[in-house]
Amino acid sequence: MKKTIRSNEEEVPLPSGAGNTPVVPLESFVPLKQLVFPSLAPRVHEFLRRHFPGADEKDWFNWKWQLSHSITSAAQLGRIVDLTEDELRAVSGEGGMLPLRITPYYASLLSKEDPHQPLRRCVVPVTAEHRRCFGEAEDPLHEEHDSPVPGLVHRYPDRVLFLATGFCSTYCRYCTRSRMVGDANRMHQFSTKVWDEAIAYIERTPAVRDVLISGGDPLTMPDSKIEYLLSRIRVIPHVEIIRIGTKVPVVMPQRITPKLVNMLKKYHPLFMSIHFTHPDEITPEVAQACMRLADAGIPLGAQTVLLKGINDDVPTMASLFHGLLKIRVRPYYLYQCDPILGSGHFRTTIEKGLEIIRGLRGHTSGYAVPQFVVDAPGGGGKIPLLPDYWQGRDTEYVYVKNYEDRVFRYPNIQHEFSR
Ligand code: SF4
Repeated sequence: MKKTIRSNEEEVPLPSGAGNTPVVPLESFVPLKQLVFPSLAPRVHEFLRRHFPGADEKDWFNWKWQLSHSITSAAQLGRIVDLTEDELRAVSGEGGMLPLRITPYYASLLSKEDPHQPLRRCVVPVTAEHRRCFGEAEDPLHEEHDSPVPGLVHRYPDRVLFLATGFCSTYCRYCTRSRMVGDANRMHQFSTKVWDEAIAYIERTPAVRDVLISGGDPLTMPDSKIEYLLSRIRVIPHVEIIRIGTKVPVVMPQRITPKLVNMLKKYHPLFMSIHFTHPDEITPEVAQACMRLADAGIPLGAQTVLLKGINDDVPTMASLFHGLLKIRVRPYYLYQCDPILGSGHFRTTIEKGLEIIRGLRGHTSGYAVPQFVVDAPGGGGKIPLLPDYWQGRDTEYVYVKNYEDRVFRYPNIQHEFSR
């Protein structure tokens, strides 16, 4: 029998197959030669054979195996990549505040020979993390100052940041919260008791309609702990939406299991902000993880930090944002890198971010252009930045510049009409 939908009073026949949309085949967004999934890709086979000879396919797709076999020492890392002298010194204890931790999955994407490879620079420490540059601070965004109870940041009127854990499966060397993640500072404790205090704060603060659960990475926790948090927050009547901030789908896509996703979708409206840095992170495994989340009705947005020599040019960003849309992730924010201690080698100028937005806006779909923001040092919050499209006004017109640098005028007069 043909399916129908009711439109006004008419029965409208649907084309055959409508309402039963097939899953988009992975071939549509990755070159066929790379498409070896869910069986192990040759890259992974070779990686396992060399570095984890006792492990098999089942281990590789098990996120707990990924966690327990993460690379945390110079000796382990030195077997996977040819460490430079500087990297070796940093990994051996002369690095910054963050410990070393890289999942085997993400390590399999690193270049063995090239220390400048973007993904390698994101996760392998260098001694520059020890340099203190102008304007840097341990907590430049003053999150501690805006924390009414431990583990909660309440900066904006209607939303809070819930810091659920200090653990990540892979540590990004430019992490805004390097002061508290990775156990670098044991002042930050995460326990159900601390959570309960934070939940009690949300319960007694009716202005809070949006809770962002982040950390650390909340998706590194077991399903039961994530569900405890979600279920406690979901029953608060004034909380309208819950968001999860995570890099897990990118650094440990095996974590996005059908069981996890089935649990998450019980707590809608639930949104997810996924931290992506470079187009090379969009692998078939990551694509499958994101599609699984999207199929569960979770709107996915990407957050990207602008990083010098890693993603600070228009072709790289365009490739990343186009790739994200193909896996159903909407580029959401492009962040100016926060001036945390030891981040000078990662940071570039705000003008560079504006140049990238100028190179995207109008040249590609609006969906592929994130909002460029600087998180104001001192706790001012996110401030959006745009190239100079506004050119001024006179008594009748506003003058605006388009993506081709052509100036147009808009008649900007409030007309009075008699009724
Ligand atoms: S995943 Fe997020 S919280 Fe964890 S190290 Fe990276 S940026 Fe920091």
